[in-house]
Parts: sequence; C-alpha cells; structure tokens
Amino acid sequence: MAPMLRLYNTLTGAKDIFAPIDPRHVRMYACGPTVYDAAHIGNARPIIVFDLLFRLLRHLYGPEHVTYARNVTDVDDKINARAAQRGITIRELTDGTLAQFHRDIRDLGILMPEDVNHPGAPARLIEPRATDHIAEMAAMIEGLVATGHAYVADGHVLFDVPSMPDYGRLSKRPLDEMEAGARVEVAPYKRSPLDFVLWKPSKPGEPSWPSPCGIAAPGRPGWHIECSAMSAKHLGQTFDIHAGGIDLIFPHHENEVAQSRCCFGTPVMAHVWLHNGFLQVEGEKMSKSLGNFITIREVLNDWSGEVVRLNMLKTHYRQPIDWTLRGLEESSRMLERWYASAGDAPAASATPDSVLAPLLDDLNTPAALAELHRLDTPEALRAGARLFGFLDQTRSERERSRIDASGIDVAAVEDLIAARRDARAAKDWAASDRARDALQAMGVAVKDNKDGTTTWTVTKPPPP
Ligand code: AMP
Ligand code: ZN
Repeated sequence: MAPMLRLYNTLTGAKDIFAPIDPRHVRMYACGPTVYDAAHIGNARPIIVFDLLFRLLRHLYGPEHVTYARNVTDVDDKINARAAQRGITIRELTDGTLAQFHRDIRDLGILMPEDVNHPGAPARLIEPRATDHIAEMAAMIEGLVATGHAYVADGHVLFDVPSMPDYGRLSKRPLDEMEAGARVEVAPYKRSPLDFVLWKPSKPGEPSWPSPCGIAAPGRPGWHIECSAMSAKHLGQTFDIHAGGIDLIFPHHENEVAQSRCCFGTPVMAHVWLHNGFLQVEGEKMSKSLGNFITIREVLNDWSGEVVRLNMLKTHYRQPIDWTLRGLEESSRMLERWYASAGDAPAASATPDSVLAPLLDDLNTPAALAELHRLDTPEALRAGARLFGFLDQTRSERERSRIDASGIDVAAVEDLIAARRDARAAKDWAASDRARDALQAMGVAVKDNKDGTTTWTVTKPPPP
C-alpha cells in the first residue's frame, strides 16, 4: 500500500486523502498552454508543480502505474489571428511555438514524454493537441445535443446550463452571481446568459472543420470542449486528478465538468481538482494581457533551470509567489550549498521519510525543502533531492558539464589564475585585481582555499 497522500481538493474544499480509482492506474490531467507565443514564467508554475506531483505519484504507485496528460491548446482566436497576420497556417504557427515551449520546459528539468515512455509499453506522459481531437469533440457535442444538454442556434452549438441542476458545484458560485457576470454581453442566440459555446461558425479564412449536428457551414470548437474530449479519450470518462491554475476554476473547469458529466452521465468528472496560485509581479498576476511578463527563455538566459524550479517550489503551490531577483539569488545559493554538501556521493537507496512526509501533506514543498537542509549525510541529501528532480548530477559531473557548455577556454582561465597568483606573490595588487576581473568577465569565480590552492567555478549559465 502506498503511503497516505493528502491533496487540497477544490471540489470538496478540504484536504482529502487521495484514493485512486485504480491504484494500478493513477490518472491525472493538467490544462496546458495556449501556444500562440512564447510562454511566460507564470505559465511555468503549473508545469513545474504538476511535474512534481507526477514524480511523487510515480514514486508512490510505481512509474508504470501513473498516466499524466497535459494538453496543448493549438486552436483559439489569438492563435488564428496571429497565424493570419503572419500568413501561415495555425499548425505552422503552433508547431513553432510548441517546439519553443518544449525547449523551455526541458531546460526547466520537467519530465518529458521521451524520458518516461518506452517503446512497446503504453504511454505514461501524453501531450494531446486540441486539433488532433476534433472528431472526439464533435462526437461529444452530438451526444450532448442528443441528451438534451445542448442546442443548435444560429450556426452555433451551445451548452444548456440550466439543464444541469448542480452546475456551479466546483467553483461554488451562486447562480445569480454567475448570471450577472455573464449578462455583460449576451449573444442573442443564447437561451440563458450562462450558456456557453461548444461549437461556432468560422469566418472565411479562419481555420474550420466539418460541423457536427447537421450544421452545414464549417466551424470550430469552443475552448472548453477540448479538455473534456481529450481527458475522456486518454484517461477515461472519470479519472483521478484534474489540475490547472486558479484562473481556470471558472468558467473553464466548471464548463469541462458540465460537458463531461452530462455527456457521459457520470456523477463526477475527476475526483480531485487541484489549482495552483498565481505567480505575481508587484502584487499583480503575471499575464500576457497586462504586459508585466517575462518569458521562460528570458529567465533561463540568466539562471539555470534548476534554480528556477527551486525558486518556484520554495513557495507552496496554492500560495501566490512574487517573482523577484532576490528570491532567485537565494535559490541559487541554496542549490550551491546542496551541490557542495552532496559532493560526489551516490544517492542513498531509501528516500528520506522526513522529506517525503511534508510532500504527502498537500505537496508542502517549503517544509520538504527545509527538511532537505537538515539531512545529515550526502547520500541522504542526494536521495531526498532526487524526489524533486534536483541534484541529478554529482558536483564533479556538474562542474564538467558547466565548463563544457559555457564554451570557456580552460587554458586561458588557468593562465589568468597563474598570473593572479604570481601578482599576489609580488604584492602587485592592481595586477591581481585585473586578473580577477578578467576571470569574472569570463563568468569564472575563483576561490582561495585554506590549503593555499585556488579552485574555480563557472558562475554563468551556458548561453541558450
Ligand atoms: P494560458 O496559456 O494562459 O491558458 O495558461 C496556461 C496555464 O498557466 C494555465 O493552467 C493557467 O492557469 C496558468 N497560468 C497563467 N498565468 C499564470 C500565473 N501568472 N501564475 C500561475 N499560473 C498561471
Ligand atoms: Zn482544460
């Protein structure tokens, strides 16, 4: 039996004991990015947090018993507009931005399909794309019309919200409040202001597919239906965990629940709903529309992916994070200390309980990281760090790969260190400072040891 994991469930409003439907096949889904442009560091938060959950579940239930689907939204109004503006197809646009996204998250140390999927075995990490699932969406839409939960109006198919008595259970919003919110701009073809689009007509030139429900003109899906269709296809009509940022609770997740439950006649869509808090800049959500964003790549130009991931996990996933330079500097120092303490020691065979226990308590990463600091052997530190995907390399391996990746001229570094040593011996402090400055400019930090030797490390992350 796996140790007991508790997760804060938005659906019940409580920290529930996690009990998978089938412990031999734990299934989770996370709503991923809309790939019209480079992802910002706020988008990296759910990716990092739910990657940690995936690692933890693999640890608890066995790697072959966990399936994780994280989707990619590759059709939407912003994508369509951007592709039209560039004169390319949406597939060309999203293939490019998705490739960039993959480079970004791989550099953050996120598990990738090629890391966990094995030929001949079922895929455990899936990245379904919306446009590859149009037929599944159309089938669900037809099912919803057939069961009286959706209707065709003016070339659209709309979900009939009042047909679902417990709509709003996830976000816990009173119906009248949601109605007041929806009333701002009500399309004339909607029966209720809360009804939302499952399918809509495409204007000439916009991406389109044959419409369901006997609608003659081609069209395209609304946003929410993709996740209902893709999760059902890859994980089943009911599955264990559904995750995303808190901005998705309403309307996106509420509408996913409505579609899936009404189409399949199930009492729940996912048992556990997890939502990460916002990454903020000066108290405001980082977002494309506010313009207060930095891309993942920009952050990775200055910091290693490991520092960025640690900086994200220092804060509990449900709390807001303020993204600051000071936080990154602190995370970088923390990692350096760990690399120094773990040295070249191998990992202990057992994962330290002191680190695992806080993670089992709703992914309490700040407490788990504090426990990592307290471990008293290098072997235990490495084993504890591995649970997070940190310290994959030994100190020597890391040093070697940093030097290789930095393109630093090792002979030039050693010459400068020798010149500095000679200058110091001759008490020529100006020359010694010049050598140190030259090393610093190369991205090299020197350290004079007690035994009289001088060692050096690379301070800059490798160029992208
Ligand atoms: P989007 O591409 O905007 O649909 O976002 C993709 C994922 O990133 C969703 O799960 C969002 O909830 C999440 N997200 C977007 N902005 C932030 C932010 N500032 N902080 C945390 N998560 C975010
Ligand atoms: Zn979704």
